[in-house]
Amino acid sequence: MSELKPYRILLFYKYVPIANYESYAKEHLEFCKELGLRGRILVAPEGINGTVSGTVEQTDRYMESLKSDPRFQDMEFKIDESEKHAFKKMFVRPKREIVTMRLDQDIHPWEMTGKHLSPREFFEKIQSEDVLVIDGRNEYEYDIGHFRNAIRPKVRAFREFPEWIRNNLGEFKEKPVLMYCTGGIRCEKLSGFFLQEGFQDVSQLHGGIVTYGKDPEVKGALFDGKCYVFDERISVNVNQVEDVIVGHCYHCGTPEDTYVNCANPRCHLQHICCPECEKKHQRFCSEQCRDAAQSAG
Ligand SMILES: [Zn+2]
Ligand SMILES: [Zn+2]
Repeated sequence: MSELKPYRILLFYKYVPIANYESYAKEHLEFCKELGLRGRILVAPEGINGTVSGTVEQTDRYMESLKSDPRFQDMEFKIDESEKHAFKKMFVRPKREIVTMRLDQDIHPWEMTGKHLSPREFFEKIQSEDVLVIDGRNEYEYDIGHFRNAIRPKVRAFREFPEWIRNNLGEFKEKPVLMYCTGGIRCEKLSGFFLQEGFQDVSQLHGGIVTYGKDPEVKGALFDGKCYVFDERISVNVNQVEDVIVGHCYHCGTPEDTYVNCANPRCHLQHICCPECEKKHQRFCSEQCRDAAQSAG
């Protein structure tokens, strides 16, 4: 076992009605700043969703405080150890939804959501014939890592899912559907949408890829590549059994799963880049971006 690292990164969500979410967001920001946390938290009438970094003591105090609120007492925190903060600043933003779907009729996961599967149950079910495995994330997340046999959704943002599902999966409503996302939050709503559309047998991975990768029994098996995360790490390892690379360098096509941002601040395109090409192209995604940055400099 590794030494305990001085920092932690927390990932958490809870779908629960939050009245006066705007004033709650304001107070919550003050509280997080007082604690010294950094990260990004969304607060909406339907709940809270956040990822923050801080020292062991700061994150302990934060978790304790949230759990002392009756609305959040059964909150599940995913905890990663870290050598440092994973964010530069602290934001708490009031939003209409914690996961943006923009349906005419909102889906409330506390009313309707798919069956929750443990990592072990998911591991077994994903290997059965005739099951539809849906990656509940965006295509750029899928591209550096996903479950074997999962369908790549052609979506750049979560709100594009309803249309993609209606256009591509309508004929499969009798099939068992299995879905997963990073920490579970998106599937709570996505699986509700599948049910609303008339799919018969809808399940989701409880706790998401992050929990699956830490499960002492399944050890991340059958997940190929890395898991995209929304902090400075960009991706984390999942599969402790075998190491498969599924992504390809944007420039040369060699197998690679590291994302970098284009060095042209006007472009900032996130692209997969191998170490050789990173040196060769100096992190620029294209000649145009290199030229633009050099003439600007
Ligand atoms: Zn390359
Ligand atoms: Zn660029």
